[in-house]
Amino acid sequence: MHFKIHNSLGNKLEKFKPIKNGQVGLYTCGPTVYNFAHIGNFRAYCWEDILKRYLIFLGFKVNHVMNLTDIDDKTIKGSIREKTTLSEFTQKYKDAFFEDIKTLNILPADFYPEATQHIPEMIQIIDKLLKNNMAYKSEDNCIYFSIKNFPTYGKLSNINIKKLKSGARIKQDEYEKDGIGDFALWKAWDEDDGTIFWETKFGKGRPGWHLECSAMSSKYLGETFDLHTGGVDNKFPHHENEIAQSEGANKKKFVNYWMHCEHLMVNGKKMSKSLGNFYTLRDLIEKKMNPLAIRYVLINSQYRQPLNFTLDGIEDAQKTLIGLQRFLERLREIEKLKENDSINEFVIQTTNNFSSAMNNDLNVPQATKHLFEFVRKINKLIDDDDLGKIGANQAINFLKHIDSVLGIIDFTEAFFELNDEQEELLKQRELARKNKDWKTADTLRNELLKQGIEIIDQKDGSTKTKQTKN
Ligand code: AMP
Ligand code: ZN
Repeated sequence: MHFKIHNSLGNKLEKFKPIKNGQVGLYTCGPTVYNFAHIGNFRAYCWEDILKRYLIFLGFKVNHVMNLTDIDDKTIKGSIREKTTLSEFTQKYKDAFFEDIKTLNILPADFYPEATQHIPEMIQIIDKLLKNNMAYKSEDNCIYFSIKNFPTYGKLSNINIKKLKSGARIKQDEYEKDGIGDFALWKAWDEDDGTIFWETKFGKGRPGWHLECSAMSSKYLGETFDLHTGGVDNKFPHHENEIAQSEGANKKKFVNYWMHCEHLMVNGKKMSKSLGNFYTLRDLIEKKMNPLAIRYVLINSQYRQPLNFTLDGIEDAQKTLIGLQRFLERLREIEKLKENDSINEFVIQTTNNFSSAMNNDLNVPQATKHLFEFVRKINKLIDDDDLGKIGANQAINFLKHIDSVLGIIDFTEAFFELNDEQEELLKQRELARKNKDWKTADTLRNELLKQGIEIIDQKDGSTKTKQTKN
């Protein structure tokens, strides 16, 4: 079985083979820290997490670098608007980002380089590009990449370089395909930059966004590395420009495999800050949505298909995850030993099915189908009292193995813990019972039941709670 992925460079399914046996260099474009990331961004980060976890599952050692874009048009604008320094402005969004990825059970990267800490590395690339006749200083004192001197420009996004208007230059970081032109590597200071600039041999200024990723990826992963990912909107111009800068400077292939995930959509439109149709993770947590259910919704689709976001989708996912947690609880409760209890063959067969789905360009929905088939069959064995402790332990180990990729099961006892509000309702009900106010006690019991918590009164007068199916 081979791990096959869709390489955006060449646009075809390919066997994945890293440069060094057993090791993968992975670069994933990180957040621009000018605001809280929205869950569209997290579709990309959760998918990249699945990719990385699956590489680890396959036995690769992954060296993962994710940059933080803390200097670009948007962060400068934000810090000037809020009258703070750039670093104060971006720090709160950096902190929020790290909190959010933890909440979504995303494995941390090995390095999170920040653009503002890598200006000398960017200058070095510009030096090489100037030397190789791939860049020029213009009359506005900015340095631009010269597209006409890089004949393979457009190979990733398949844009037609013939559309390039002679002399067209683009200074801003983001632009559309129809605006193709020489893009800024170094932007000379102007009034819009306020107090934000670096004093360098090219004069007072700051780097262009695209240059940042070329500099930081090669510093930590080498001039040629295995795998680079991002959302489809990054393909052009960002990744196309990264290729041009890195290959133009180093004269060798930049990246072997490029992967891009499609967008999270709302009513047929990309979820984005500019359209205002977004939820942050924090918005959803405030609505009492379970973070693992949000993760499950974001990962359980083929990454090359757009995914439509609905709140109902998260509620359904919540029910599915409660089912998985109940299954784990049932397995843990099994104490009896039984003869011929091993389910090893079934575990191996399901693991193989799971892997073949994932090997096919990360087909997560197909892979989870095999997981739920397993859950159904083993639940039936438990219903029929046909599963003993050995089989139950094998099933638990299987869940742990599969979940090292999916990251949707809570193996601590925390999943069924009550939140503060539910604890308070429970306390009030106990008080009502003590006061023999049965009406209030019943109302509170029903309120908790509506939230999926069933109260079980014990013989000794104490109470226990259990999560119900809904
Ligand atoms: P940004 O902070 O805008 O640079 O975006 C960070 C990452 O999120 C990039 O890989 C984008 O391609 C990705 N992204 C932005 N919006 C969406 C969306 N609606 N769905 C999926 N990925 C997105
Ligand atoms: Zn990038």
